[in-house]
Amino acid sequence: MSLNFYGGVNEIGGNKILVDNKDSSNSDDKNISSLFLDFGMSFSKAGDYFSEFLQPRKLNGIMDFVELGLLPKIKGIYREDYLKHCGLECSKEPSVDGVLLSHAHMDHCAYIHHLREDIPIFMRKESEIILSVLEETGKSSFGEIMSLKKSFHYVPKKRGEGYKKLTGKEAKVERNIVSIDPYSPFDINGFKVTSIPVDHSLPGSSAYFLESDDEAIVYSGDIRFHGRNKSFSDKFVSKSYKFNPTIMICEGTRINENSKGNEEDIETKAVNLIKDYNGLVFVNYPIRDLDRLITFYNVAKDTDRILAINSKQAYMLKLLEDEKGIENDKYPKLSDSNIVVYFPRKKQGLISGEHYVCYDGDWKTLDSCDLELKSDYDIWEREFLEGDNVINYTDLQEEPQNIF
Ligand SMILES: [Zn+2]
Repeated sequence: MSLNFYGGVNEIGGNKILVDNKDSSNSDDKNISSLFLDFGMSFSKAGDYFSEFLQPRKLNGIMDFVELGLLPKIKGIYREDYLKHCGLECSKEPSVDGVLLSHAHMDHCAYIHHLREDIPIFMRKESEIILSVLEETGKSSFGEIMSLKKSFHYVPKKRGEGYKKLTGKEAKVERNIVSIDPYSPFDINGFKVTSIPVDHSLPGSSAYFLESDDEAIVYSGDIRFHGRNKSFSDKFVSKSYKFNPTIMICEGTRINENSKGNEEDIETKAVNLIKDYNGLVFVNYPIRDLDRLITFYNVAKDTDRILAINSKQAYMLKLLEDEKGIENDKYPKLSDSNIVVYFPRKKQGLISGEHYVCYDGDWKTLDSCDLELKSDYDIWEREFLEGDNVINYTDLQEEPQNIF
């Protein structure tokens, strides 16, 4: 077995680790099975070249990334549309058997965007939900992780001569996403793989045990011991000890630090800061950090407040709530009386219902189900507009304004 590190060494994230398992009974290349452990973006390397207003050029497919050393030069892994557009050959079959995704942080998954759609991507259900929400609600130009949209593709027009560019649903191709269950071993072309849950700042984080004829590998992914799911990490440690690996690949961003704080300490600190204050309190955290959501939900309850979340967070909670076979009891429900969904004004600014629109010369107010109001919002968030737990800017105003 051989290991190649194309990222993630002496840096934070950017993990792209290729594990090759040579079949000792056959020297033919085709009998080599190989897997990637994560396929993430190195923030530090990308930051050397790019910034908010200076991004890689889509017209160049993968080439900006390859030329700058952000993506490895490996045959048989990249998507056909990008390769062909740059005049490069695309092999019939992929050269790797899959990607084992540890968790849905960009420094572990972002560059899956560039991979061909027939490479299986293995992940836990929670990661699927998080990535689906981020993909559907985001606007990143290199964010096609769950599905990809074929670029530079033209098809003959149905009526008349000529070609039209594939867009929207027609251009969409689902990736080969494979859901995996914790602690249930499965086989990938000669590798025996087991997903072991670990605690990290988002649900669905997984370490992996890999076994081949001659090696036993433990890959921790990102791991912590101070979150609400510390018991997962503790169990991972005892299982790793019993597994007796020949190789251990471990995250170690803060391995020399001796910090003692945990998520419950943050909760206590926040309650002490907020409890004697009467005004609005704004908090900011990544929507996928559901441990932190629980923290602020508890803080809100302990300080007689209501937690207002945004529509993306509501969407993620709904998908987690609807998913069977995962541990979702710990997350607050959307129907919880301590949670409301805050909708900001968008486009026409019609959310309060107090504004008038003109129909055939007649000015009318809108209610929350009105078509015009809905058109202010994206399709995925419209269902939340109709809930009885929606608030808008008028609910946050202390004094109505009477200027005229
Ligand atoms: Zn992470």
